Amino acid sequence: MRIFKPFAPLLAAMLVLLPAQSRGDQKLELQLVTAGVYAIVGELGNRTTDNLGNNATFGLVVTGDGVVLIDSGGTHPGAREIDRLIKTVTAKPVVWVINTGGQDHRWLGNGYFKNQGAQIIASEAAVNDQKARTQDQLIMLGNLVGDKAVKATDPVYADKTFTDYFELELGGIVFELHHSGQAHTPGDSYVWLPQKQVMFSGDIVYVERMLGVGSQSNSKSWLEVFQTMAAHQPRHLVPGHGQATDLSQAKTDTYDYLVFLRKSVSDFMDGGGDISAIGSVDQTKFSHLQNFQEIAGRNAQQVFTEIEWE
Ligand SMILES: [Zn+2]
Repeated sequence: MRIFKPFAPLLAAMLVLLPAQSRGDQKLELQLVTAGVYAIVGELGNRTTDNLGNNATFGLVVTGDGVVLIDSGGTHPGAREIDRLIKTVTAKPVVWVINTGGQDHRWLGNGYFKNQGAQIIASEAAVNDQKARTQDQLIMLGNLVGDKAVKATDPVYADKTFTDYFELELGGIVFELHHSGQAHTPGDSYVWLPQKQVMFSGDIVYVERMLGVGSQSNSKSWLEVFQTMAAHQPRHLVPGHGQATDLSQAKTDTYDYLVFLRKSVSDFMDGGGDISAIGSVDQTKFSHLQNFQEIAGRNAQQVFTEIEWE
């Protein structure tokens, strides 16, 4: 029996890994928020061949006159996966697709849904951002998801745009589309359903995982946009990343982190810190958020550059 002893730790490790693997196999998960309203929850990590670029949360509203989809997925095959899930709850067609921003997973599935007859709407700022970054996004997706998925993806822009506000109605359900400034991306919008008390925040809210501040983001304006969104006091909140939740968790994982990050970086700069030593800014208070290792340092670096210009 002694010969098996060294394998015991290995066996224990395998048992620990199994649940994580079976979770990964699900890829997209449908979550009921309230009557007729769902979150379609994708993985919290990066884009992969398996998740087809759907590493985000999308929204689904079923009305008497058809479906409204909030964000179309990261690639054409990714959009097909979203559609497969929609068909498990309704046979009604997707009438409208709303793009809440310019990041790849918000809009690169547009072509798929347009082919099915849907109309697409986004803020003007989001479409400008999409146009500016289409090639970069397709190259990045080619590296992470693969050339096959990217070749099938036709980058289609919204049929209809709005500047800062647009009201949509389908089957008696009112959708308020608000673009109130730059957040994670320049054209981020949130979608408010007053009758359902549901907020679809797009990339204005990340829960469970660490948000990303990139060169297309503005952390200062992001805080203001969050407050404008939060003023609606939603009962249910479908974030851009993570499971459907409430305002309290959105505040803890997004707003409080952004405030903490800006304060920490600004204190570091006040102390004469140089950007080359930005890694010494301690963010372990938020290390429970997924992707912390990959993203925390980059966020601090980006906010440093931002504050230098404020
Ligand atoms: Zn995102």
